[in-house]
Amino acid sequence: MGKKTIEDIDVRGKRVLVRVDFNVPRNKETGAITDDVRIRAALPTIQYLIDHDAKVILMSHLGRPKGKVNEDMRLTEVGKHLSTLLGKPVTKLDDCVGEDVEKAVAEMKDGDVMLLENVRFYPEEEKNDVHFAKQLAALGDIFVNDAFGTAHRAHCSTAGVGAFLPSVTGYLVKKELAGMGAALMRPEKPFVAIIGGAKISDKIGVVSYLIGKADTIIIGGGMANTFLAAQGHDMKASLVEPESLDVAKETLEQAKAAGTDLILPVDVTVAAAFDAPETAKSVDIDAIDDGWMALDIGPKTIEKCVEKISGAKTIVWNGPMGVFEQEAFAVGTNALAKAVALSDAYSVVGGGDSVAAVKKSGMADRISHISTGGGASLAFMEGRVLPGLSIIDEREE
Ligand code: ADP
Ligand code: MG
Repeated sequence: MGKKTIEDIDVRGKRVLVRVDFNVPRNKETGAITDDVRIRAALPTIQYLIDHDAKVILMSHLGRPKGKVNEDMRLTEVGKHLSTLLGKPVTKLDDCVGEDVEKAVAEMKDGDVMLLENVRFYPEEEKNDVHFAKQLAALGDIFVNDAFGTAHRAHCSTAGVGAFLPSVTGYLVKKELAGMGAALMRPEKPFVAIIGGAKISDKIGVVSYLIGKADTIIIGGGMANTFLAAQGHDMKASLVEPESLDVAKETLEQAKAAGTDLILPVDVTVAAAFDAPETAKSVDIDAIDDGWMALDIGPKTIEKCVEKISGAKTIVWNGPMGVFEQEAFAVGTNALAKAVALSDAYSVVGGGDSVAAVKKSGMADRISHISTGGGASLAFMEGRVLPGLSIIDEREE
C-alpha cells in the first residue's frame, strides 16, 4: 500500500515533469521574492532528479493571473533564484506548452533543469481541460507531484496530467502524506482534535469527519460561539453565524450519538470591541455583557483542554482558539500550543493561521508535523479525496 514516490521509479534519462509550488510572496512594487521557503522546500526533489540524470521540467503557478498573460506574474525571477540555490543553470521558458516549448525540451540533456512559464496564464489550467493537460503531459515521460498546497485542486498541472503519465510523489508530498496520514489513518488513542478559527462554515467538514474517530473534539475560536448559541447561550455581540445554528445543533447530536466528547468553552475572554484589547477580561459563558464579544477561550476552559491534551496520544489541530493576532486574545491558543508541545502525543497542525499561531507561540519545533498546505490540509482533515494525490500510482506489494 501507499503512493509511489520518485524513489520507486527509474528516472534516468527520462523527461520528468514536476509540479512544484513556486507561488512565492513578492514585494508589490519591485516584484522581488520576499520569502523563498517554497522554492527551498522543492530542492530535495529537484536535486534527487538531477543526481539521477533526469531531465527536470518544472511547472508552477504564481499569483492569480486569471487565465491571461500577466507580465508581473512571470516566473522569471523565480527561475533566477532557483538557479542560484541549485548552483547550476535553469532554463526559464516564456510559455508552458506549444512548439517552442517542445523544441526546447527535446534539446535537454540529462541533469538539465527547465522551468516552464506560469501555468495559470492559460484559462484551461484551472478548468482541468483535457486538451491542455495532454499538451503538458506530452512534455514528459513521468509526472511528479511535489506541490501539496495545490493538491486539493483538480487542475491540469496538479491532477489532469496524471491521466497520461506514470505519476509519483516528490519528497514534499511524501512527507505531508506520511505526516498527516499517521494522525488521521491510524490514530493511537486517546485521539484529541482541536478545531477553531473564525467560522463554523469553514470547519464543519472537519468536525463531522472526526466525530466517531476522535475521542475528544475541543471546539474554540469564533466557531465555538455558534455552537454555544445553538445551546441557548446569549453570545451578545460575538461572531455568531445564524445560518449555521441548525448545523451546529445536528453536529452536537451526532457527537453525542457517536460517543465523541465535544468540549465547548465554559468561559471566554471578552472585549468591548474587536480593537479594544485593553478591555479584555474573562467571564463565564452566561455572563457576557451586552455589546461585548468573545474573542478567546477563558482560563477554566484552558485548564479543561490542557488536561485532555496532556493525556492524548494523537492530536490534530486546525484553527486558532481566539483572535491570536492580538496578544490579549492569544492566551488560549498559546496555552494549548504549549500543552500539545509538552504532551507525548503525535501531533499535527494544519491551516494557514493555525500554523502562524503555533509558530508565534514558539512551540512549532515540538509539533510532530506542521502541514505546509492551507486548503489542502483542511481538505485532508475532512477526509476528502485530494485530486492531486488520487492520480498518484499505488505501490504494488
Ligand atoms: P486556519 O487559517 O488555520 O484554517 P481560520 O482562518 O479558520 O484558521 O481562522 C483564523 C482566524 O479566526 C483568525 O484570523 C482569528 O482572528 C479568527 N478568530 C479566532 N477566534 C475568533 C473569535 N472568537 N472571533 C472572531 N474571530 C476569531
Ligand atoms: Mg485562515
